[in-house]
Amino acid sequence: MSTHPGITIIGSGFAGLGMAIKLKEAGYHDFVILEKAGDLGGTWRDNTYPGCACDVPSHLYSFSYELNPGWSRMFSPRAEIRDYLRACVEKYGLAPHLRFGEEVTGLEYDDAARHWRVDVAGGGTFTTNAVVSATGALHVPSLPAIPGRETFGGPSFHSAEWDHSVDLTGKRVAVIGTGASAVQFVPRIAERVSRLHVFQRTPPWIHPKPDFPFSPRARRILRLPGATRALRNAIYWALESRALGFAVDPRLMGAHREVALRHLAAQVPDPALRARLTPGYTIGCKRVLISSDYYPALGRDNVELITDEVREIREGSIVDSSGRETEVDVLVHGTGFKVTSALDERRIVGRNGRKIQDAWQDGAQAYYGVTVAGFPNLFLLLGPNTGLGHNSVVFMIESQVRYVLGCLRLLSRTRARALDVRPEAQRAHNDRLQDRLNRRVWNTGGCGSWYLDEHGVNRTLWPGFTFEYWARTRTPRRGAYELIP
Ligand code: NAP
Repeated sequence: MSTHPGITIIGSGFAGLGMAIKLKEAGYHDFVILEKAGDLGGTWRDNTYPGCACDVPSHLYSFSYELNPGWSRMFSPRAEIRDYLRACVEKYGLAPHLRFGEEVTGLEYDDAARHWRVDVAGGGTFTTNAVVSATGALHVPSLPAIPGRETFGGPSFHSAEWDHSVDLTGKRVAVIGTGASAVQFVPRIAERVSRLHVFQRTPPWIHPKPDFPFSPRARRILRLPGATRALRNAIYWALESRALGFAVDPRLMGAHREVALRHLAAQVPDPALRARLTPGYTIGCKRVLISSDYYPALGRDNVELITDEVREIREGSIVDSSGRETEVDVLVHGTGFKVTSALDERRIVGRNGRKIQDAWQDGAQAYYGVTVAGFPNLFLLLGPNTGLGHNSVVFMIESQVRYVLGCLRLLSRTRARALDVRPEAQRAHNDRLQDRLNRRVWNTGGCGSWYLDEHGVNRTLWPGFTFEYWARTRTPRRGAYELIP
């Protein structure tokens, strides 16, 4: 590897690869992609739990410039998405830029030299002009601080670290958590286990999943000029219309609530079970899940929904707040990810020796989620307040990649060595964001979620339409940046 690559990308999921493709296209070839694992794919490499699939239709959850008429289903399984990313690496010639097994342990900005020092696990170190952090928002597993968790004697793992060496056939299995991952794997394992105990803290709102395989004929039609693009656009606008409820008028959420309640009523005939599955908060406050097989799985004879809080984990059992002890052989945590605290352990030191944790002591913030005041030439993809609950994050990634390229062009046009977003521009942007977010369903809907940090401030979501984000990030505003010669 060059001892001083011009640009260093961290991560080889959708964001890192999307950045690399566009860098090459723009004529930047002096870059590396550092990947801590031995393979590419990010989320779609790590999450291998049974039933793992995208919950955004594949024709939209893919690059706009790399449409794939051949998706097998409306919502493709993870292996197919990972293969899509591999095909992108092949097609765009990214392999020579990829470095596997290179975990970045620290980034430090050198004020005098105007470059970053990158430390990797094992002691390696090099310098680079710019860093693009494409490490994703959902990759640090969150394990709940339940007393006795370490004392459990049987196999125990997180959904994002699924232990495939454990055969669940005929076992008594407990699942803690009922989020987006759990609703996908619960139906798959329910068929195999002898008993499945699903511990639910808060019921999710669930919409039916309009999933279906594309027949060979449908795929042939999708290969006709413009057909895949038209389908993608139709999906985009259908999903984007969901933002009307939170961005324009909350009363529009009522229709979504009706769809979810009808789905629940149709799939759960038992009124007592239905009551325990009916959320008590406004729909949209947490991510609305989509599944057509989760409720039927809960209705199986060998499956039990437990809504009493998990109080203690023992060597071979789980004790809930009713005092009941449930004996289990295997424990699966579907408990989500550390999102707002994901960078807590990362050593990122910016100008004047300031750590990112200090810059973010009141909460993570950035300018349009991409640049952070005091950290010149550091670009975040899917950074603070750029997540979505209603549309494809690949759309946001593409907007951010274009924005980063705009920053690089600004640097070469002005012959500056680095750019640093002005603190006042970042502050004004975040004040506007938080003002909008404070009035939205995620803050007012009566639920807790990983969208909010420990102070109850939403540090994860973009509050409006995705096309607004796209429009606002088309070109970096020169006045928002200090250009460092
Ligand atoms: P999640 O949505 O954060 O769900 C975590 C679950 O664990 C929640 O039900 C939560 O309950 C529960 N939980 C956490 N701590 C607990 C405790 N101490 N006791 C009992 N329950 C506890 O996590 P996830 O399902 O892994 O999904 C995370 C995100 O990944 C999703 O929102 C989505 O963005 C993404 N995802 C996407 C796809 C896709 O297809 N695109 C698939 C899977 C995941 P509370 O609700 O009470 O907190």
